[in-house]
Amino acid sequence: MTEGDVDLFVIGAGSGGVRAARIAAGYGARVMIAEEYRVGGTCVIRGCVPKKLLVYASRFSHDFEDAVGFGWTVAGAKFDWPTLIRNKDKEIARLEAAYHATLHRAGVEIVESRAVIEDPHTVRILKTGARIRAGTILVATGGHPVKPDMPGAEFVITSNEAFQLPRLPRHIVIQGAGYIAVEFACIFHGLGAQVTLVHRGPEILRGFDDDARHHLRAEMVSRGIKVVLGETIASIRKNGQQLEATLSSGEKHTADAIMSAVGRAPNTKDIGLEAAGVKLNADGAVAVDEFSKSSVDSIYAIGDVTNRIALTPVAIREGHAFADTVFGKKPSRADHDYVPSAVFAEPELATVGLSEAKARERGFDLDIYRTGFRPLKATLSGRATSIMMKLVVDRATHRVLGVHIVGEGAAEMIQMAAIAVKMGARKADFDATVALHPTASEELVTLHNKVSG
Ligand code: NDP
Repeated sequence: MTEGDVDLFVIGAGSGGVRAARIAAGYGARVMIAEEYRVGGTCVIRGCVPKKLLVYASRFSHDFEDAVGFGWTVAGAKFDWPTLIRNKDKEIARLEAAYHATLHRAGVEIVESRAVIEDPHTVRILKTGARIRAGTILVATGGHPVKPDMPGAEFVITSNEAFQLPRLPRHIVIQGAGYIAVEFACIFHGLGAQVTLVHRGPEILRGFDDDARHHLRAEMVSRGIKVVLGETIASIRKNGQQLEATLSSGEKHTADAIMSAVGRAPNTKDIGLEAAGVKLNADGAVAVDEFSKSSVDSIYAIGDVTNRIALTPVAIREGHAFADTVFGKKPSRADHDYVPSAVFAEPELATVGLSEAKARERGFDLDIYRTGFRPLKATLSGRATSIMMKLVVDRATHRVLGVHIVGEGAAEMIQMAAIAVKMGARKADFDATVALHPTASEELVTLHNKVSG
């Protein structure tokens, strides 16, 4: 290699790229990482982290309402959007600096520029025009929100802009019913906006367990979110300061903002992948093997750009496994089984393992255990809410194949339940565990209500 060469060039300093760069450098590799926007990537800058901060902010309104039954008078509570956004931005800047520091400490050189692949061992840095020769190239460019194709699409915001709105909309229409649409519907509603969610399908959150989907929608509706199913937004027009969305039924909705959350697409355009011979899947994602290697031996890809499971902890695992494999001489695969996930709605929906429908599709004969109960807190708060828990159990082996929870604290509960499920716990193992009283999660180990099987 010549001077200026590196062992690893990482394109994209999101969670996965940063982990791969740091671990590879720890193995002694000379590593350079390019980032065209901000170090930290989607999760840190305009995804999971700021989203969760907004979720926290949005929940205070429910807490204030619930507090009354416990004897509190919360008078004069007011919400200020610019304060929230300013404080959120400060925290994101702190995290971004921490990511920079981590990379510097690991000896990774950061290049603040877009980078494109010229051939299987060459990357060009657009800002300077420099060409870097690299033993291995890692594509960790993530994804971007898909913009809908409709008249007036230019008026639509995506999650990127939702984090930076100058003011809180009084009424927002949100299109889609995946993670992002549902989470933002609950965030904006909790902060005081009137929210209308428009979804083309018959139920929100396709792919999740059906009981959990129905339960969460009912909870959202009971809190005051309007959910319109079986419709799309046909067009949008500007009407003074307001926007008017016309739905496929002809129904019109006036709003201050219209947000689209109809999925994310991998960032594979204009980075030289095709020219280098890297094969893409039909969905435009980089096609990779179980070691995250692309169709070109020296080019790997991890995270959302591969469209396997678009979750930060998965991208981090893929980045780590890549570095172990290529630079640590320890062939490692990221495990994509039993990955827990949560929709940070109000209330939360969290899940690990198979939905009932997916398990049946795979041919399992099932025992289904399900409960719905009023949480203790609701007895005094008076809130009309219930928690739904469900275990999907393989009748032949009694293994718990899936756990699904909708209710306050569901995400925290599922992370723990996921350990048991991942270890192959049987229903009897859940039953043998003594309940911790009084909690909501104790219902998971006292679930005797077999509803089908
Ligand atoms: P999703 O793929 O989860 O959901 C997309 C939604 O848009 C679906 O409801 C889909 O409907 C609908 N849709 C798709 N195309 C159209 C269309 N042309 N017209 C109308 N509706 C349409 O995408 P998101 O954008 O919500 O999130 C992207 C990914 O980011 C997630 O899959 C997840 O991996 C990750 N993420 C994870 C989070 C978490 O872990 N908490 C939070 C946020 C994002 P249909 O069901 O009919 O296809």
